[in-house]
Amino acid sequence: MATRLDRVLGAKTAKAMAEQLSLHTVRDLLRHYPRRYARRGEMTKLEDLQVGDRVTVLAQVRKVTTRKMRNRPGSLTEVTVGDGANSMQLVFFNRRHANLQEGAWGLFAGTVGEWRNSKQFAHPDCHLMTGDDDEDWARALIPLYPATKDVSSWVVQRSVKLLLDAAGGFGFVDDPLPEEMRARHGLPSLAAALLDIHRPTSAEDVEHAEHRLKWDEALTLQLTLAARRKAAALEPGIARPPRPGGLLDAVDAALPFALTEGQREVGEELAAELAREQPMHRLLQGEVGSGKTVVALRAMAQVVDAGGQAALLAPTEVLAAQHARSIRALLGPLGRAGELDGALEGTRIVLLTGSQKAAARREARAAVADGSAGIVVGTHALLQEGVDFADLGLVVVDEQHRFGVEQRDALRAKGNRPPHVLVMTATPIPRTVAMTVYGDLETSTLRQLPSGRGGVASSVVPVREKPGWVDRAWERLREEVAAGRQAYVVCPRIGEDAGAEEEPDDADGAPADDAPDRRPPLAVIDVAEALSAGPLAGLRLEVLHGRLAPEAKEATMRAFAAREIDVLVATTVVEVGVDVPNATVMVVMDADRFGVSQLHQLRGRVARGKHPGLCLLVSEAATSSATGQRLAAVASTSDGFELARLDLETRREGDVLGAAQSGRRSTIKLLSLLEDEELIAEARAEATALLATERGLADHPGLAMEVAALATDERAEYLEKA
Ligand code: ADP
Ligand code: MG
Repeated sequence: MATRLDRVLGAKTAKAMAEQLSLHTVRDLLRHYPRRYARRGEMTKLEDLQVGDRVTVLAQVRKVTTRKMRNRPGSLTEVTVGDGANSMQLVFFNRRHANLQEGAWGLFAGTVGEWRNSKQFAHPDCHLMTGDDDEDWARALIPLYPATKDVSSWVVQRSVKLLLDAAGGFGFVDDPLPEEMRARHGLPSLAAALLDIHRPTSAEDVEHAEHRLKWDEALTLQLTLAARRKAAALEPGIARPPRPGGLLDAVDAALPFALTEGQREVGEELAAELAREQPMHRLLQGEVGSGKTVVALRAMAQVVDAGGQAALLAPTEVLAAQHARSIRALLGPLGRAGELDGALEGTRIVLLTGSQKAAARREARAAVADGSAGIVVGTHALLQEGVDFADLGLVVVDEQHRFGVEQRDALRAKGNRPPHVLVMTATPIPRTVAMTVYGDLETSTLRQLPSGRGGVASSVVPVREKPGWVDRAWERLREEVAAGRQAYVVCPRIGEDAGAEEEPDDADGAPADDAPDRRPPLAVIDVAEALSAGPLAGLRLEVLHGRLAPEAKEATMRAFAAREIDVLVATTVVEVGVDVPNATVMVVMDADRFGVSQLHQLRGRVARGKHPGLCLLVSEAATSSATGQRLAAVASTSDGFELARLDLETRREGDVLGAAQSGRRSTIKLLSLLEDEELIAEARAEATALLATERGLADHPGLAMEVAALATDERAEYLEKA
């Protein structure tokens, strides 16, 4: 397997494979699986193809005609190829493939073009059946490999065949999977699977082989993650057991509501884990509005009671400020220790953000360093050097999807010993993603919303098809404001100055299906102007976006929370975590420019109190288009888990581990987080069990090698950054 390809293939082929496909060894080549298989009888009609589609078809030559071109020198060869009832036209200029003869079978690869209003396949790459690979061509399924300019699919195919012939089969392939594990899950040997993936005789062959090869990937991945969990568990932290009569009890007494059952259960889970020396690593996922903040606050209070400090890391300044404000409000005098009206047994809550004035920052840092601040709320600024904690006991990361493992680790490193870590996310994460990308965390889920919520009714407003609905939308908004409620209008862009500025927070936007000729997205500044001069004239309307000074942002949010503003026209700065229970209407302009999860997040900003909410997704997309249907799906369900799935699908991130870019060597090729849930769960259990044994991987050198290979894989970086 470790043999270099230039020892078995021609030097030129080996060089091209190394350079263009990163295939260096026999192992690399055998792990370079077909992308799909061509088979007879599956050729599509040319009419059904779109101009620009790249296709490879297996077909038979039906007719060949060559004629001189009229307006320029040279000849034109037209070839009709077909397969059953379907046929298509190929054209070649000044070239005549010697083997392009009627009756010959071949593979034709190219891009669908258009000429004088008719579609054609201009000078495709073709590979015709010749004597020496007759046997291959007789097969039902012909493998099509990820290929490059100089290494076509058929070169790969021939190289694999060469290897097979030279070695007399794949008998030389050692199996990394322990035999009893294979038996437990009914998996074929690696040699058999490789033979079937490269030279299948039936679709079932391929399916079985893929299943087995996915196991290799899933197990390797899970072993890596399990090893990481194990290493983390070996480094002890500090136990922070609850202390009756402290801050936690005071928080519970001050809460204006009863905890939901879910909040209580997760709370107990956290309390027990914090009381252990082994650092907690937990992911708390919960629907938007399920009340995660309270759960986190109670955990922070427990840690403060035990003499430690807790840090709450938020993705935006608006959110950090809001958290600090609401925690202070909830704790009252207990959060003002050291101040005149502060309670002696209380603590201090400090806010630390990048935009603070130097003096304020100095003061905050001092309180963090001397331990007088028990609760520290901040943005990325918390991660900076110079922020030293007296005794960091708990790190809470709010809205995880904006933070990477690296950042989490940077904060974790600020503890004298590894602190406990709680990661919170409102983007529901499909189970498999939690098991892989977040594989080093245990998960808890809040499924229930606090009772008494009004719920959100959502609808799509298709501007082109129902222009009247837009007026109706603004009327509804006015009605809500007249009833004492408030509203958000969200636009994808800030506007005014030129340049394609984006909100810094907008990292994950809508699917990239932008056609180049689309008009620019609607902008906050323009929309706010148009609304206050038109349909929303007379209402108190303000704008909020990332280009405002932090104090201005903070002041606007405060005024909105105090009901001094009726309508907030904003970018997605309101997407995450903003909590104004009196807001009931969310109008999203150019809704098609946002991703599914983002829309769900935005919608979560309304109906956080007892009044029912309304979310209107305004879009020019046709209701029948894929985009229109995506919006309809968001409007039709409030099940965040279902939407998270849809989001993965539409963002073509079903393969969250990285889109299968052809031509890149990688360990993770076949595994799909959406489709292979069962398999991943089984592999996770096997990996955990294997590492729990005394000898671990010591008796499984093959597996150890696979794990080592993954570690050097570029895609492993994805795990780090996810
Ligand atoms: P999220 O999980 O989206 O972060 P929050 O923690 O911001 O949700 O909570 C949403 C709102 O629900 C807040 O106004 C919070 O005070 C309120 N809330 C939290 N828990 C409860 C509860 N058990 N009963 C009633 N309201 C609650
Ligand atoms: Mg929140």
